[in-house]
Amino acid sequence: MSVIVEKVSKRYETQLALDDVSFHVSEGEVVALLGPNGAGKSTMMKIIACYLPQTSGSVRVRGYDVSTHPLEVKKHIGYLPENNPLYLDMYVREYLKFVAGLHKLGKEARRRVNEMIELCGLTPEANKTIGKLSKGYRQRVGLAQALIHDPGVLILDEPTSGLDPNQLAEIRQLIRDIGKYKTVILSTHIMQEVEAVCNRVMIISKGRIRADAPTTDVRKLSTTRRMIRVTFDQQANLMALKQLQGVVDVEPASDGLLIHTAGDQDLRPVIFQFAVDQGLVILRMDQQEESLEEVFRQMTL
Ligand code: ADP
Ligand code: MG
Repeated sequence: MSVIVEKVSKRYETQLALDDVSFHVSEGEVVALLGPNGAGKSTMMKIIACYLPQTSGSVRVRGYDVSTHPLEVKKHIGYLPENNPLYLDMYVREYLKFVAGLHKLGKEARRRVNEMIELCGLTPEANKTIGKLSKGYRQRVGLAQALIHDPGVLILDEPTSGLDPNQLAEIRQLIRDIGKYKTVILSTHIMQEVEAVCNRVMIISKGRIRADAPTTDVRKLSTTRRMIRVTFDQQANLMALKQLQGVVDVEPASDGLLIHTAGDQDLRPVIFQFAVDQGLVILRMDQQEESLEEVFRQMTL
C-alpha cells in the first residue's frame, strides 16, 4: 500500500474538518479527492504530507507513520500545495536548485533539476523569473518542485485551479503522464477533471468520505439516473405504467408525466409500446440523463 489513512479526524478549535476518514491507496493509483469548498480536501492532504498533525487516527505512507517518521514520509512524498506558493523573484532554475538543496540531493541536484525542467516542459522558460511566467507555467514549476526528489507518491491540491482551457489540458496531460509511474492523489471540485485524469474517485463532503469507486462507476453510484418526460393525449393508467419493468416511479408534472427509471436501459421504446397497447397518442417524449454534476450534488448534500 502506498498510503493508508485510518480513522483520521481533524479538529480546528471548534470546527471538525475531518470526521473519521479511512481509505487506502495502492501503488500506481491516480485517485481524486472530489468535493466542494470546505469539504476537508486540503486538510487531508496536508496531514498526508506532514504539514499538519491530525487530531486522531493514523496515516502511513509507504509504511512510514506521518506522526513518528515525518522525514521518511517527506522523502517519499511530493506535495503541490493549494495556490502553489512560489518565490516570484527567483529564476526557475535557481528555485528548483534551491528545492533540490532542501531535499539534500547533493551531486544529484544538477541532473535532477535538468530532468525536471525537461519533464515538465519548462525548457523555454527555465531562465525567467517565476513572477514573469503564466499561471500554466507556474503550475509546471510547482509540479517540478514536487517531483524533484523522485518521490513515489504525489499529493496535488487543486493542481488546475485558475488555469485557462489550454493550460488546463496541458497540465492534465502532464499529470496523466506522471501518473503512469507514480501514485497520485489530487483534489478537485470539477467532475470532468476526475474523468480526464483519475482511475478512482473518493467523494468527500463535510469531512467524510461519501463514496469511493472507480471513475467509470461514478454514474452507477447514483440512485436515480434517468427520467423520461412524456405527454400523452389523454389520462394514462398510472398503475399499469408503474408496473412496467424498469420503471421506478411516475409523478405528474406540469405538462405530463415524469417517469423515473432504473438501470442502463433506455425505456422509451417500452413507453412507446405501452402507449400503443393502451390506445394513447404520445404528444411529446424526451429523456433526461443526470449529469455527473447532478450525481455529485446528490452525494454531497
Ligand atoms: P477544502 O480544501 O475541501 O476546501 P479545507 O480542508 O481547506 O477544505 O477546510 C475544511 C474545513 O476546515 C473548512 O470548514 C475550513 O473552514 C476549516 N479550516 C481549514 N483550515 C482551517 C484553519 N487553519 N483554522 C480553522 N478552520 C480551518
Ligand atoms: Mg482546499
